[in-house]
Amino acid sequence: MQAVVVSEIHREWKLIELPDPRPQAGQVLIRVRYSGMCGTDVHLHRGQFPAKLPVVAGHEPTGEIVEVGAGVTDFKVGDRVGVVWDQKVCGRCPSCQKGVSCPNAQTWLDLGGGNSELMLAWASGCALIPDGLALEAAAPIFCAGYTVMSALRNASPAPGERVAVLGVGGLGHLAVQVAHALGLETFAITGKPDKRAELLELGADEVVVSGDDPGKALLDAGGADIVIATTSSAKQIGSAFNGLRPRGRLVSTGVADGPVAIDSFGAMIAFREFRGAVPDKRSHLTEILELAAKGKVEPKLEIYPLARANEVRDRLEAGKVRYRAVLAHA
Ligand SMILES: [Zn+2]
Ligand SMILES: [Zn+2]
Repeated sequence: MQAVVVSEIHREWKLIELPDPRPQAGQVLIRVRYSGMCGTDVHLHRGQFPAKLPVVAGHEPTGEIVEVGAGVTDFKVGDRVGVVWDQKVCGRCPSCQKGVSCPNAQTWLDLGGGNSELMLAWASGCALIPDGLALEAAAPIFCAGYTVMSALRNASPAPGERVAVLGVGGLGHLAVQVAHALGLETFAITGKPDKRAELLELGADEVVVSGDDPGKALLDAGGADIVIATTSSAKQIGSAFNGLRPRGRLVSTGVADGPVAIDSFGAMIAFREFRGAVPDKRSHLTEILELAAKGKVEPKLEIYPLARANEVRDRLEAGKVRYRAVLAHA
């Protein structure tokens, strides 16, 4: 099989021939059709993400199952699936007991990711893609979409509340659509005025174009009960926290570029909360896959052939990918 292998940090990823893998007990073999590219791939390239190299990256894969290992009874050959990050958790650690991300989970780092013609995955890490949802549109749901759905659910939105999405790229443009689909008043906060029309079309009730101080811009627009922060800017996240209404919650979904400074006095008197979220409950994944299948969430994609993985990663690093880039396999 052909696979894009990351051998060293800061070096070209190489498209090479590797032996076809065979699934062990509990695993499946997937013919990958699409593989989304995420910010983590840039962190991996820069050595900012702990990984044992060489590795095949790609944690937003979708495709068809071509072989099942012994004991796999819930999937069959021909099933259209995607694979989540935490494929098989230990079930024993304190995080597992609390139902959050397991530090001992088996992931693409253990079995290899989706930037490859064939990919092994634990069956427990696979999810069926609903009929009517294209494999390319489903790909970004498996990290970006799952993450924002979990972030919004973990913000405990109540009917009538206002959600502001800070940063409207790969994750943010999905968060805007999800919040709108759930019937919540949705604000998009962006530094790019040229995105305004697109964001209104995606379902934003209002677009706040902000400079250095999104918190002030948000307060000027009436504040928000929930901020879903998808930016990596610690400064922007700290500022947006001040745009929360009383009892507001900010959920951070990404790796910030430094410590986030929070106005603790403002948090105290207004009962504001800072929360974190990564994909936790499988029901969140199902929920956003269903929204996508109904056309209520439509990832905006740039699709490139797998052989151009280096170029796509460079585009992502340079901030040139407008929403989400997906690699297409031949
Ligand atoms: Zn990701
Ligand atoms: Zn665990």
